[in-house]
Amino acid sequence: MALTDISERMAKALIAAGRAPDAAQLIAVSKVQPNERVAAVLAEGHRCFGENRVQEAAGKWPDFRERFDNIDLHLIGPLQSNKARQAFELFQTIHTLDRPKLATAFARLAQEMGHCPDLFIQVNTGEEPQKAGVMPVDVDGFVADCIALDLPVKGLMCIPPVEEEPALHFALLAKMAARNGLNGLSMGMSSDFERAVALGATHVRVGSAIFGDRMPV
Ligand SMILES: *Cc1c(COP(=O)(O)O)cnc(C)c1O
Repeated sequence: MALTDISERMAKALIAAGRAPDAAQLIAVSKVQPNERVAAVLAEGHRCFGENRVQEAAGKWPDFRERFDNIDLHLIGPLQSNKARQAFELFQTIHTLDRPKLATAFARLAQEMGHCPDLFIQVNTGEEPQKAGVMPVDVDGFVADCIALDLPVKGLMCIPPVEEEPALHFALLAKMAARNGLNGLSMGMSSDFERAVALGATHVRVGSAIFGDRMPV
């Protein structure tokens, strides 16, 4: 099964980098995949999944949670403030904290609900105008602001520009995390997760290599 193959490649990349075999988590990105494919991966025993839309996740994961225990769900797509409450209810980790307004909304919800998902701050390492994420120059200040709000910031996340060598972006993200005292690095997808692991990724987000190509939406 593709899942076994990807897990083995990840383990090899971790060992090659001199890291512990469990030093990185494999997030199976199930967005837009047919439910049978997701159920098959759950039946294999995998429990860590990623979705990029709150609405889509709300439509399928409550049913899966009734059928399978200990599901660990990660939001890896952009989040509107008005969906933050729903995201808190559905996800154990949110990888796309990318602006002060969202940080304020999270802090308010955390107080009110008495819990907060683990958080990653998304960084626009390629400084692409159309892409979400904090600009590299603003990262240190934004991390400090989030910590001051008592938010459980675990690390940084990036999606490198398609046309560029991802390793440069992974290395930059690792450097920014280290100087801010953050251990978590959410980076690497189907085409580059081994390079991300070599550069310190703690969470890789792999979709098509596990599930096959996504249906066009
Ligand atoms: C879809 C998606 C992935 C997975 O992409 P694949 O190339 O299918 O592995 C990873 N990260 C984010 C943010 C995504 O939206």
